[in-house]
Amino acid sequence: MKRLKTIYLLTLLVAFFVPAMVSATVDVPDVLITGEPDFTVVDSTYGQFETEIMEMTKPVNNLIVAVDMQKAEKAMVRCYARFKYANTGRWGSYLAFDAEYHFSAIDPVSACQLMFIVRDPERGKTTVSHFAIQGNYLEESKMQWFMQKPDPFKSKSVWAKPTVVARSAWGARPAKSAYTPHVPQRLIVHHSYLPAQATYKGASTIRGIQNYHMDDPKTSWADIGYHFLIGPEGVIYQGRPEGVVGAHCSPNTNSVGICVIGNYDENADKLNPKIEESLLNLLSWLASTYKINPEVNLYGHCDFAPKSCPGAIIYKKLPQYKTQILKNIN
Ligand SMILES: [Zn+2]
Repeated sequence: MKRLKTIYLLTLLVAFFVPAMVSATVDVPDVLITGEPDFTVVDSTYGQFETEIMEMTKPVNNLIVAVDMQKAEKAMVRCYARFKYANTGRWGSYLAFDAEYHFSAIDPVSACQLMFIVRDPERGKTTVSHFAIQGNYLEESKMQWFMQKPDPFKSKSVWAKPTVVARSAWGARPAKSAYTPHVPQRLIVHHSYLPAQATYKGASTIRGIQNYHMDDPKTSWADIGYHFLIGPEGVIYQGRPEGVVGAHCSPNTNSVGICVIGNYDENADKLNPKIEESLLNLLSWLASTYKINPEVNLYGHCDFAPKSCPGAIIYKKLPQYKTQILKNIN
């Protein structure tokens, strides 16, 4: 009986995790806290709920807080997060957000608390069902550098925008909440790792990545994490609008994330001229439109995280791309 139970559990685990594995990689965070507050407001115009204080397993200076809720039609839900600074032991004040919050500070934080407030003139039913807090620690010198404004850069010309498949054309779900606006200052290239090129199926692959980012309980993000995705045939898809904060490489604020579908680690998928042409056109357009100097502000994900992303094959070519982009826009 016990063995049967184990097998059943294993089957459940496989059924649950395998679909997720075929849909793009996300960072393994230094800290992950998830919870089911199961806070419901029904037949009432107002409700308020505060979680317990949640201690981090290690201090972190970059966090994404994402909340899942089922809202009554006229209900307004405000989420709040506050953080305790590890060095002073002091708490910051509550900061309001819609459903996804990005927190970056040079001082690391060691604890967090969330609060939810529901207002509903029609007394419907609103439930805050789940939250996920992902935290990462980035060394102080990198954080300081990240939080400063880059030197002004102006290209001689603006590179033509390549054709980008709109969200409606690939069947994107609407974002769960309002986005946080930002000014693009850095370009960060990723690969999907999984799916590899062989399992890419056009728009349905992009929908799969979006579902994974929005529905996996470890992320629960408001939308697909990347701003752009490039298929092996060179098609460019719009993820989040590039003028809003994404979820692809912490700290995310002011970074535009571009994901090349495939695994570009050594001895895996091959880069082809169509991918490179699309990537260079997209990067040249972004750099010249948002006044980003590609020489200093074009990166691979591995520059900020201990992982191989965007794969050695792409990463080794970044110096060459920088020269080409500068040539394109100057
Ligand atoms: Zn990456």
